[in-house]
Amino acid sequence: MKPAPFNYERPKTLDAVCDFLAKNSNSLILAGGQSLLPMLSMRLSRPSLLIDVAHVKGFEEIKKIGNTINIGPMVRQSVALESSVLKNHLPLLIKALPFVGHPPIRVRGTLGGSLVQADPSGEIPLVAVTLGAVFHIRDGNDNIEILARDFFLGPMLTAMPSSGCLYKISFPVSKYSKIGCGFHEIASRKSDYAFASTAVQIEQNENGKIETISLGIGGALDYPQVINISGYNEKKINLKLLKELISEALLNIDFVGDFHASASYRKRVTIKLASRSFSDALKEIGYI
Ligand SMILES: Cc1cc2nc3c(=O)[nH]c(=O)nc-3n(C[C@H](O)[C@H](O)[C@H](O)COP(=O)(O)OP(=O)(O)OC[C@H]3O[C@@H](n4cnc5c(N)ncnc54)[C@H](O)[C@@H]3O)c2cc1C
Repeated sequence: MKPAPFNYERPKTLDAVCDFLAKNSNSLILAGGQSLLPMLSMRLSRPSLLIDVAHVKGFEEIKKIGNTINIGPMVRQSVALESSVLKNHLPLLIKALPFVGHPPIRVRGTLGGSLVQADPSGEIPLVAVTLGAVFHIRDGNDNIEILARDFFLGPMLTAMPSSGCLYKISFPVSKYSKIGCGFHEIASRKSDYAFASTAVQIEQNENGKIETISLGIGGALDYPQVINISGYNEKKINLKLLKELISEALLNIDFVGDFHASASYRKRVTIKLASRSFSDALKEIGYI
């Protein structure tokens, strides 16, 4: 099928994007088009105006400012994978990106598009939630900041205002001397959306003490979520203890069951994947 007719604009500034959004209630932003164009072709979406943000100033930048990494929404997934700033400061993102589709998808697909698309199995949303990213959104004249953890509300459902434009994603840089991370997922084929995925980052201070542990779960829930792991401060961490803490933390979480995989399978496999991710992270900091 072919898309229904639409108008097309390619503004060069965020102000112009917001102007178009405000004046056309049936307009949509076009980023890499990897999710949006199939929706248009199947006529599941019929915007009267597409606003292509590929040429907006600053939308393709990756910058470290103080203790924050700022990423423009149009940064392509393949470009992010090669970024030395991201390799140095956001290794978890670098570990997760190769799981996003396959190379041609990553050449066009963007970080911002993936976040706003909010697929429950999306690797980039999972990393954003796990690392405490903040989304900067302009809606008309208002600048809004939303924590990734508050942005995702359900499958493909977000707190994005209908006339909003995501213009920056900021990630905090760890203040600790060592970080270790791990990312694992399971899918029916390489490049398919995952049934379950886990992202872990562990931060260690200069005395070797583990200061923070972040575990994020994707694919197995309605939207990516951070799971609170407590009780690791009192004891020397090892994989057996972590597996117990993970199982405990997941006790009251509702896993998704569908024709791809049952809820009990997703829960079982999530515990395994989380253990592997922890194992990678602990090895990276030389803890095990
Ligand atoms: C075959 C295939 C396999 C894939 N596999 C995976 C996978 O394994 N994991 C995964 O995570 N993804 C996967 N994807 C999706 C891919 O990562 C897309 O790149 C991503 O979902 C959307 O990014 P995009 O830049 O193409 O956005 P688009 O498709 O252009 O836009 C997506 C949505 O975001 C909105 N939007 C985009 N930018 C902004 C902005 N700045 N402000 C406000 N709204 C905005 C658009 O209006 C649209 O609603 C796959 C896609 C395909 C086709």
